[in-house]
Amino acid sequence: MFTKLFTPKKINQCEIPNRLAVTAMVANYCNEDGTATDRYIAYHEAKAKGGWGLIITEDYAVSEHAMGYQFIAGLWNDDQIASHKKLTDTIHQYDSKIFAQIYHAGRQSASFVNGGVQPVAPSAIPCPWLRQLPRELTIPEIEQIVEDFGDCALRAKQAGFDGIEVHAGHGYLIAEFMSTYVNKRTDKYGGCLDNRLRFIKEIYTNIRSKVGDDFPVMIRFSADEVVQGGRDISESRVLAKLFAEWGFDALHVSSGAYGDHNKGIVSPMYVSHAWTVDFAAEIKQLVDIPVFTVNRINDPRMADGLLDMGKADFIGMGRGSLADPDLPNKAKAGDLTSIRYCIGCMQGCVGKLLVGEAITCLVNPSLGQEYQLDYSKATTPKKVLIAGGGPGGLEAARAAAIKGHEVTLYEQGSFLGGQFKSAAYPPCKGELATYTNWITSELDQLGVTIHLNRQVTKELVAAEKPDTVIVATGGTPCKPAIKGIDKALVVTAEDALLGNVATGDQIVVAGGGEVGSETAAHLAMQQRDVTIIEMLPKICSDLDGVNKFNLMKILREYEVNQMTQTKVVEILDDGVIIENSQGQQTLPADTVVIALGYRPNNQLAEALSAVHNHVIVVGGAVKTSNAMVAINDGFNAGLSL
Ligand code: SF4
Repeated sequence: MFTKLFTPKKINQCEIPNRLAVTAMVANYCNEDGTATDRYIAYHEAKAKGGWGLIITEDYAVSEHAMGYQFIAGLWNDDQIASHKKLTDTIHQYDSKIFAQIYHAGRQSASFVNGGVQPVAPSAIPCPWLRQLPRELTIPEIEQIVEDFGDCALRAKQAGFDGIEVHAGHGYLIAEFMSTYVNKRTDKYGGCLDNRLRFIKEIYTNIRSKVGDDFPVMIRFSADEVVQGGRDISESRVLAKLFAEWGFDALHVSSGAYGDHNKGIVSPMYVSHAWTVDFAAEIKQLVDIPVFTVNRINDPRMADGLLDMGKADFIGMGRGSLADPDLPNKAKAGDLTSIRYCIGCMQGCVGKLLVGEAITCLVNPSLGQEYQLDYSKATTPKKVLIAGGGPGGLEAARAAAIKGHEVTLYEQGSFLGGQFKSAAYPPCKGELATYTNWITSELDQLGVTIHLNRQVTKELVAAEKPDTVIVATGGTPCKPAIKGIDKALVVTAEDALLGNVATGDQIVVAGGGEVGSETAAHLAMQQRDVTIIEMLPKICSDLDGVNKFNLMKILREYEVNQMTQTKVVEILDDGVIIENSQGQQTLPADTVVIALGYRPNNQLAEALSAVHNHVIVVGGAVKTSNAMVAINDGFNAGLSL
């Protein structure tokens, strides 16, 4: 099935057993002093077990004040080496190689993560995302940072890493020096290209003098910074040739910088797969060292095809490895249906970082918990009944079945996946369906009995006599007391998305949160005339910045009318009466879509708790939440039995 994916290739003297590389991603799993925790080590070990050829760690800070996040790794003093040696020793029990990525965050940091110290940069221009004013570095400070990089690289070697990756991309300090986007200096570190590259050249020379010629030193950089005034591929071609000439052992061609709504860095579901591969392909023609490509490549066949076409030598998969650390082994075994694919949601891996927390993954609730999970079979298998076939119920069933329990799942509707099914219908969200598909197949393999179109009742529970009942009945769409809400033209967002009802040409969507806005985008793409009515000052206010930016772009492109700080006061047979600061007006409509949130569907939980002594309630049945909470709750409930 694969031509090149599972063939080895060397970087300098280090043979990487296959072409699949875990790219660096901040996990926030380390101690605040930069030392490795058991959690951090087990997180990486899962990938080594899963068969990745090369694991590139998150950014190791080269100095105490080089950190961009509070709980990332660091190798700025010798005392930190031992804990990271434990990491490399662990990985080396498997075939994988491990490189440490080393960096200085520059202006893409904030003083609260660096002990109150102001961020630094080539020039005093704030990062548009973090917005804190950085201080311009002096020449002695630049020289010290060059030494820090070399010292950090040497410590990485002493800690047993097989190589290092210097992070010169994504808008961090080295990238800031390289680009006229941030570097406005007029001394020897600014202005012409050679001056802007002086910093990275000195860093490379310093590193090489300390680690020796045989130790792999690769560099990651953004071929296109995807920001106004940032570097594009034209200058990046020149950089690539120079990097190879100086002696870097491999080039990792990425894209982006903070401030472009992070399209380039995080590649949400709104961008296409492998969207930057042609940058790598161009650069590969210019150099004779290995080239890495990256960015939303999550299918191993896609990866192999890119290698086969000669576009790159290694394929980086960051989030693909979070969603399924076992992806390489599954692919190698030809078992593609068992791969749990990243759906590009950004909720756990990016959303958590934005609020300073450790990363999680929506589809992989074990992420970050590997060090404390117990998958061993229960000594006394139980009979487990699960009510609800949404994400929480499905995950509870999977976890309970893994523990060896006898699991039966009842779903009152005709399909599995709950609201996750309709959530796949809006533009660019189709890959959500892969999760439902995957877990349904897993439940089948695990021998879980599933009944569709069957409602759980007290009588059913009495007849089945389960030891444990897990209630995962989710939420019910809110139906506020608006005059006319029961009229025939009123439909739920879920019904509109699933095509359970035909919608008209003039549509009013009541509610401009995520569900309402996505439903509006879905309908507008069918050439309907759509208006969103939202009571808050802005729509999409429950979405993170990256997804919001992209969804808003679609709404603008398809001319969806948005009326904020406005409420629906009455629904007529052929329209709605709305009210805002300008008074009341009537909007014509032949369909009114209600997307005003959900309330917990907890009646069954209350009824069963009265007659059964072990009822666990999860997800939206407890309180209004999202799929990530439901999946996590379900997983923990199932595994706890
Ligand atoms: Fe992918 Fe979403 Fe998991 Fe991130 S949280 S790895 S985007 S599935």
